Amino acid sequence: MTLVQRLKAVLGRGTESRSYAYQCLICNEEFVTDESHMARVSCPGCGASDVRSVAGEA
Ligand SMILES: [Zn+2]
Repeated sequence: MTLVQRLKAVLGRGTESRSYAYQCLICNEEFVTDESHMARVSCPGCGASDVRSVAGEA
């Protein structure tokens, strides 16, 4: 296996169905998204962008 093929395999596995849990600070709704950047996440319930990441099972 070439180095490029190995890199592709590792990167592919790393980004596949990755999910992050967040909680809305406005309505306390907890939700999961594949967006890893908190600044780009907004609450699906009320649309607020004031969210915090939640550690634990996602
Ligand atoms: Zn909300």
